[in-house]
Amino acid sequence: LSAEAQDVLDEIEAKNVDFLRLQFTDILGTVKNVSVPADQAEKAFTEGIYFDGSSINGFVRIQESDMRLDPDPSTFAVLPWRNTEESAAGRLICDVIDTSSGQPFSGDPRGVLKRAIERAEDMGYTVNAAPEPEFFLFEEDEEGRATTKTNDAGGYFDLAPKDLAQDVRRDIIYGLEDMGFDIEASHHEVAQGQHEINFTYDDALSTADNVATFRAVVRAIAAEHDLHATFMPKPIPRINGSGMHTHLSLFTEDGENAFHDDDDEFNLSETAKQFTAGILDHAEAIAAVSNPTVNSYKRLVPGYEAPVYVAWSDRNRSALIRKPAARVPAASRIEARFPDPSCNPYLAFAALIHAGLDGIERELDCDDPVRENIYEFDEQKREEYGITTLPSNLGEALDALETDEVIQDALGEHVYENFVEAKSQEYDDYRVDVSDWELDRYLETF
Ligand code: GLN
Ligand code: MG
Ligand code: MG
Ligand code: MG
Repeated sequence: LSAEAQDVLDEIEAKNVDFLRLQFTDILGTVKNVSVPADQAEKAFTEGIYFDGSSINGFVRIQESDMRLDPDPSTFAVLPWRNTEESAAGRLICDVIDTSSGQPFSGDPRGVLKRAIERAEDMGYTVNAAPEPEFFLFEEDEEGRATTKTNDAGGYFDLAPKDLAQDVRRDIIYGLEDMGFDIEASHHEVAQGQHEINFTYDDALSTADNVATFRAVVRAIAAEHDLHATFMPKPIPRINGSGMHTHLSLFTEDGENAFHDDDDEFNLSETAKQFTAGILDHAEAIAAVSNPTVNSYKRLVPGYEAPVYVAWSDRNRSALIRKPAARVPAASRIEARFPDPSCNPYLAFAALIHAGLDGIERELDCDDPVRENIYEFDEQKREEYGITTLPSNLGEALDALETDEVIQDALGEHVYENFVEAKSQEYDDYRVDVSDWELDRYLETF
């Protein structure tokens, strides 16, 4: 047993943890749990826990369904909403192992991200990532179902003595801190009922684990307040949607920021610019992964601080990638503004990393940043600047993915095929549906 695993066993003992949730995510990013009594913890660390993978989305065919979960001891946390003096529940995030080969299972998103990180390591880099997940808090109806009514509308007749949303956000932050998060900032976002909580950057794998945990904690604690937290990218038309801007940088083995250059006008190194150029080059295919729902493309429209155009900028927020101001060299980084919080963070980060590394390997050039507001460009001006647009719907994004071998390889054959199959079905299902908008517009006109 490793020292780290032994520490977990001691903590389980000390905190009266009686159940352990062994977690992993399916290809679509949904967190799956296998719950075991805490006395199985030692066995989980030494032998792994066996489960039937055939019922997990996009996992395996029935006849080859035996999987094993290997818990990562560094991910142990006690769930704050299941924690009393006498009994508590803990969780461990796991790698999924294919028992027939003994190798990491190729359909495990966490394994997909690990491969991307290994490629960066082979090139001499560690990858740091920090996300800015945004979400809405909505009221529930009498049956406990989610509505799209915001709880902090502060209506005209509202006599509530305090800002309810502020209390919920505070409880969410306490919950996250209990789970080991280092919260940097939290604020009410632009739209009514919309919030953002930022946590410190970490290596890309820990950050992806954190995103999965973050969504679960936010939902669970909102529910305790009878509110529904949603990470759906655009729940309300014609106001800001929810993004998950993702900050990325590469560090060298001796802890230097490979993205920083004192002498550059933007303090960005050649490496950072090549990485940026790689993401711009593969953006349309990445979008299928980082913006994977029909609804994602309702956010990626001009006018709501979400990117539409494939360009980078050191200033404006209409660009796909922004260079945020950095106070110290270690903070030089790029901000990919297109991902949204409905994505599978493991797969989205893997796609971004592989695209960036591809840019470094091919020594791609980055054009000058665009400093004007691209929302206001007409087609001719965009053409002049060589600016293309993101896919305008999930179908186009999937088409782009089907022609981009770098992003396909980033996912690996198993994930790629299952992902495209599930998402094509989702898009087809949407295409044959008739929306309220269409009925309002056409039913009585024609
Ligand atoms: N909500 C915006 C988006 O969709 C971002 C707003 C902001 O953080 N400035 O990306
Ligand atoms: Mg922010
Ligand atoms: Mg924001
Ligand atoms: Mg941001």
